[in-house]
Amino acid sequence: KAKAAGGSSFASYDPQMLAGLVERLELEADLRLALDRGELKLHYQPTIDMNDSRVIGFEALVRWQHPTRGLINPLDFIPIAEATGLIVPLGRWVLTEACRQAVEWAERDNSRPIKMAVNVSVRQFDRSDLPTVVREVLTETGMPADQLCLEMTESVLMTDTEENLAQLVRLKALGVTLAIDDFGTGYSSLAYLRRFPVDTLKIDRSFVERLGEQSDDAALASTIVQLGQSLGMSTVAEGIEEYGQLAALRDMGCTFAQGFYFSRPVPAGEAGRLLLQGAEASSAA
Ligand code: C2E
Ligand code: MG
Ligand code: MG
Ligand code: MG
Repeated sequence: KAKAAGGSSFASYDPQMLAGLVERLELEADLRLALDRGELKLHYQPTIDMNDSRVIGFEALVRWQHPTRGLINPLDFIPIAEATGLIVPLGRWVLTEACRQAVEWAERDNSRPIKMAVNVSVRQFDRSDLPTVVREVLTETGMPADQLCLEMTESVLMTDTEENLAQLVRLKALGVTLAIDDFGTGYSSLAYLRRFPVDTLKIDRSFVERLGEQSDDAALASTIVQLGQSLGMSTVAEGIEEYGQLAALRDMGCTFAQGFYFSRPVPAGEAGRLLLQGAEASSAA
């Protein structure tokens, strides 16, 4: 039945759909070249210690400087990279560049080791060679393993559990830390979470967004913080835009924060300056 429906919708002429398809094919072709042409770059968003407002590290977020379309956000090309398998070389490039940059910063102001968080898509996670890739990148760049954090979404806790558990254990054995990104949006089982070697829960932005309003989100955010505490995991609140959200989360016992209130994701040069300033990254920054 699904096939018949698909066939008929293809037969009916839908200019908008066709335009979308053409655009996607063009983007896909361009993305294949983007890596070699050096069009990808990383922006860095600081992670802040809630208690003293210091920058403790960064999350690397990929951008694509397209020759004609301008700067493209990851949500507009990561899905294409995942669908085509380009996420594998792209992901390795991101990992290498983020580690290289972290080492460069560490050599410059050798007093402060910082954490570098890198997003890993499920398509990368599912490949058996991911631990090898991570190990190679650590060696190539000289990045200390304990300064690298891999961010994965909750889906790794939800499917193929035994295999995913084994993969997490292999990654953890390298000495890196592991974070669950956008936590609270999926349906991960508490039983799994307890078994899995996860260090950090990142509270999804959607719960932070509506903290001030009449909603259950405060209760949910607070529950995630307590869950983290009881499992010995640290918590990072994503998407903090206002002081009120920061204060509420700090009162809940959340340890780390990210968000436009402190800083948007910024190019490496600017991130390096944030770090040098010693970090009272404030909303004024
Ligand atoms: P994410 O890992 O959850 O990253 C956080 C996203 O929220 C970033 O969007 C960031 O710019 C945005 N953000 C941070 N603070 C605030 C805030 O206070 N308010 C609002 N409204 N937004 C905020 P970005 O950079 O567009 O990235 C979107 C998603 O794309 C990321 O979500 C991540 O899932 C994915 N992504 C980014 N870089 C990579 C990468 O190198 N590899 C992979 N696999 N995925 C990536
Ligand atoms: Mg992330
Ligand atoms: Mg996130
Ligand atoms: Mg998110």
